[in-house]
Amino acid sequence: RQAQYRRLRNKPSVTKDGVEVSLQMNAGLLVDLPHLAEAGAAGVGLFRTELQFMVASSFPRLKEQQAQYTQVLDAAAGKPVTFRSLDIGGDKVLPYLRSIQEENPAMGWRALRLGLDRPGLLRTQIRALLRAAAGRDLKLMFPMVAEVDEFLKARSLVEKELKHLRRHGHDVPETIRLGVMIEVPSLLFQLDELLQHVDFVSVGSNDLFQFMFAVDRGNTRVSDRFDPLGLGFLRALKRLLDAANRAHVPVTLCGELAGRPLEAMALVGIGFRDLSMSPSSLGPVKAMIRSLDAGRLAARLLPRLEPGHQDKNIRDFLVRFA
Ligand code: PEP
Ligand code: MG
Repeated sequence: RQAQYRRLRNKPSVTKDGVEVSLQMNAGLLVDLPHLAEAGAAGVGLFRTELQFMVASSFPRLKEQQAQYTQVLDAAAGKPVTFRSLDIGGDKVLPYLRSIQEENPAMGWRALRLGLDRPGLLRTQIRALLRAAAGRDLKLMFPMVAEVDEFLKARSLVEKELKHLRRHGHDVPETIRLGVMIEVPSLLFQLDELLQHVDFVSVGSNDLFQFMFAVDRGNTRVSDRFDPLGLGFLRALKRLLDAANRAHVPVTLCGELAGRPLEAMALVGIGFRDLSMSPSSLGPVKAMIRSLDAGRLAARLLPRLEPGHQDKNIRDFLVRFA
């Protein structure tokens, strides 16, 4: 199997009927980067910057952050990297950050909320990223955005830092693209407004599913209770895709869903053309894609998302189709 997947590394990620599906990988530490070439990923679709903070014993300073991001971009050797700003809080704890006791940390003071309330922290990270990407392309997205205004505030911090660097004669990135993770359901109802402002969006299906179905992603008593391949979740994703396509905003999905072949097949069936997953999933997912007739799948899957369709069990249909 492993050898078989390795042979796929340099083969294009294209379905039998000619649909290209870009497969990127998720990463969080420098040691992940060699997988980019080994597994044949098109880029890093999600770089979880909090990992550096989680393995450190004190807050990484500007220079350390910058060094890390420089090394990541060097290692990517021109392949695109999408950095995500710090996503601490919830299940991602920093031992040295005075933790406040919260009853529901997943819904608490975390991720961009923390970043906007402690702008010094976020600005330092943004500065490190802007410097590391000097003369190159910077892609940055923000986690746990629940309202458009949070993105606008984060963007204005980027603009301030950019001005600051220019004023002091530093080189700045050649291009800067800013995006938002779609992982809080409230954003699904603000898509028209959001999509006017962002350069791209990326679905964090782990959190989006957790919050849509009110199931703690870390609690195995409930986490498998509902099926992401059911009507509720697939319809939500389809509407998001349609809105993004109408607005010509690129959309990726970088949650664990993308790394499971049957689930990834459903995602391609409803229209995703860009997925990001853990490196070990790239082989199996590419194998699925190369044997898929995407047009035939879409023709049979999409009617099942319409109200009143007789066959309600989408997972069973997908298993039969595969
Ligand atoms: C997600 O929520 O789906 C995601 C990709 O981010 P994380 O798993 O780091 O929360
Ligand atoms: Mg998340």
